[in-house]
Amino acid sequence: MNNSIQKVSVHGGHSGQYCHHAKNTLEEVVQAYIAAGYSWAGITEHMPPHTDSMRYPDEAESNITAVQLQQQFQRYFSEIRQLQKKYADRIRLYAAFETETYHGSASYVRELIESTRPDYIVGSVHHVGGIGIDVDRELYEEAKHKAGSTEHLYCQYFDLQHAMLQDLKPSVVGHFDLIRIFDDDYLDTLELPAVWSRVERNLGYIAEQGFILDFNLRGFDKAIEQYPSLPVLKLALQLGIAIVPGDDSHGINSVGRNYQRGIDLLQSLGHNCQWQQPMLFEW
Ligand SMILES: [Zn+2]
Ligand SMILES: [Zn+2]
Repeated sequence: MNNSIQKVSVHGGHSGQYCHHAKNTLEEVVQAYIAAGYSWAGITEHMPPHTDSMRYPDEAESNITAVQLQQQFQRYFSEIRQLQKKYADRIRLYAAFETETYHGSASYVRELIESTRPDYIVGSVHHVGGIGIDVDRELYEEAKHKAGSTEHLYCQYFDLQHAMLQDLKPSVVGHFDLIRIFDDDYLDTLELPAVWSRVERNLGYIAEQGFILDFNLRGFDKAIEQYPSLPVLKLALQLGIAIVPGDDSHGINSVGRNYQRGIDLLQSLGHNCQWQQPMLFEW
């Protein structure tokens, strides 16, 4: 890799200690970023559910309550703040979190921002119609059925995302087109006028506000290519949106995964691979 290209991650660092579907301790994940030569990494654990009904299926099956997950989230913040100091001479860590977006979530996210005082947040949507769309194909189909069609599912997703962007003004927008995760014909779906006009609208807002787009490398493992997919990425670049890699790591094995692949793609599109840092809250 070209040495002048810094290794960074704007979204990732989920750990088995604080996330039910991740692996390893938070400190092990941080050490993995250091070992891999990262200049900076945003540690962006998932926010906890507001109520038991918004837990992920794996959390519900394990009988972990929303209250326990909320307490765990507060412990996450105290630990990441300690690790930030402990490793300050080796890596710049950001203590951040990734949002959920569902009915009533915006005011809850604001409460969490007040209580944890993060460095920044990653604005993500993982639910449409209250159903988790990135858990498995079965739930995805259920969400699609509820929405009425694939087209409607995408439209609702991008409308939820647009409202979230306006409400929360996140420094980083997580996996922009996650909604395509279990859609084998996503390139055709994205081209539908009702869908593409929403992509254009949301990217236009992101450009205007100066948010960073998470160049999400986990997509290579879970959904053929990175998020956002190529047509969206090209438009984002045309609009001058800052694109920054996020490995969306969920344990030491996924720290830095697919980095070179991502860089190769960005360079082929003429990106200079100089990374913008996230805008930070001032506390
Ligand atoms: Zn996760
Ligand atoms: Zn996510």
